[in-house]
Amino acid sequence: MTYGQAVIGVAPSTLLRQRRAAEHASAPRGGGAGRQLDLALMLADGSETGRADPAFDAHADPIGQWATAVWEEWLPATALLRIAADALKRLSAAKNPWHQCKGPAAGFVATATRLGWVVHDAFSVTTDDGTALRLSVDPPAVFVKACNHSVRRWRWRNVEQSMPSTAAIISAGGPNMTPVWKLLRSSQNDEAWNPATRSALRSALANRQWTQQRGHKAGWFDHNRCMLCLHRLAIELEGLDPTAEALLHCVPAAPVGNLCHRNWQCPAHSDKRSKLAPEELIMAVSRGEGLGNSAQERALFPSIRHLIPKRSSQASFEWVVQPSELPVSGKVYTDGSRIDAEIDQDVARLGWSVVVVEDDGRIVASAKGIPPEWIIDIPGAEAWAILQGTNIVMPGSPYRVDCKPCIDAIHQASLGRRLAIALWLGCSTSAFRPSTTRRRNALCGCRPKRRRTTLASNAWAMEKRSRSSTETRTIVQTSWLRRGRTLRECRLISAG
Ligand SMILES: [Zn+2]
Repeated sequence: MTYGQAVIGVAPSTLLRQRRAAEHASAPRGGGAGRQLDLALMLADGSETGRADPAFDAHADPIGQWATAVWEEWLPATALLRIAADALKRLSAAKNPWHQCKGPAAGFVATATRLGWVVHDAFSVTTDDGTALRLSVDPPAVFVKACNHSVRRWRWRNVEQSMPSTAAIISAGGPNMTPVWKLLRSSQNDEAWNPATRSALRSALANRQWTQQRGHKAGWFDHNRCMLCLHRLAIELEGLDPTAEALLHCVPAAPVGNLCHRNWQCPAHSDKRSKLAPEELIMAVSRGEGLGNSAQERALFPSIRHLIPKRSSQASFEWVVQPSELPVSGKVYTDGSRIDAEIDQDVARLGWSVVVVEDDGRIVASAKGIPPEWIIDIPGAEAWAILQGTNIVMPGSPYRVDCKPCIDAIHQASLGRRLAIALWLGCSTSAFRPSTTRRRNALCGCRPKRRRTTLASNAWAMEKRSRSSTETRTIVQTSWLRRGRTLRECRLISAG
């Protein structure tokens, strides 16, 4: 179903077929029964991070493939720039851009545009939420992650089109799905919450409820009035077992059978409602807020994320024990941590600390602070703590780090990368001390990353080998420059 989509992207009609097939496969035994496609696939995801929807792969494959091609330099930068510029020009002039998708660049541009991203050139894009990403600086994993977040927003925008009542909550950042997932995953089994109510919630969320009004619109029923209320009125008129005439006579007096009436107004459900429904929602309906409100009708409540104070974008550094002069020498203990991420990523907070201890057990320096905004996980905070430690202690000081990903990254990294870390950190501890020959080889001849062998990259490598050493050095310098080094650093490295 998804063969080749990483190369030329997935056209909207094919994507719709893929998504319908996935929705059909995930439907209950009785069938989809008119479920809203996006909400049905969200439920099929099974969690806030699930990716059962084919839309995730349909977008992440072409975008991730292009990001990998740029990151691993499958082609020279000029070639990548040229084919991306050509694709941008061709697609912007085309009546139907998807008819012009004939290669990875066009697939990348068309896929990113569908998500609302703006592609500036082969190396830079702005996502639909305004985040600027650079393909030469941000690794492919960052692009795939940003793409998955974008697909979730794209789905909510689709929901908004078919369900205009959700427009207000979607424009304010989307509904709050955390309590919904908690309720759906719960194993509670009593009168208040049980497998039947969980199924009912799924059904209401995905628009699988067929009210009298919806059936009337589809041409199945003669009228759109609530059948329970209609029977009650006819019984009041004629007693038990009313005739068809009595039912017909009562039709104009019966209320319209829609979701709001079924959930919040129908007297037939008043006992259950008074026992189980929250007081605030009953009060809101009594004020006339229920009809057309996605919170009351579909359990889609507005998110309150915009009320949560944002993390500080700036890193901080605070001395706990300030040494009289820097750098100090001793054993360095570093730590980074994160709390409350399991509740929600938006309320997560990170911190780091460094303690330098001398041989006699005396603390000679200690500092703490928060990492910058772009660090979002524990290994990142740990790495930031190590970096802060290197600013305090003498080069060559022993470190005690309790983060395995950081230790592995430092000890198992390739020689070139270890050197890059060493140069970046501005220090030379025992982990970063290769022999002089190896260092010279690494600086002048090593490749920073393993290059994937393709015909194009082979041709480029052969061409590169035939050039003079000065030209090769310029290419290497350019590649390092793109990795964030200054020209002076590159010259120093090349000279070394
Ligand atoms: Zn009713």
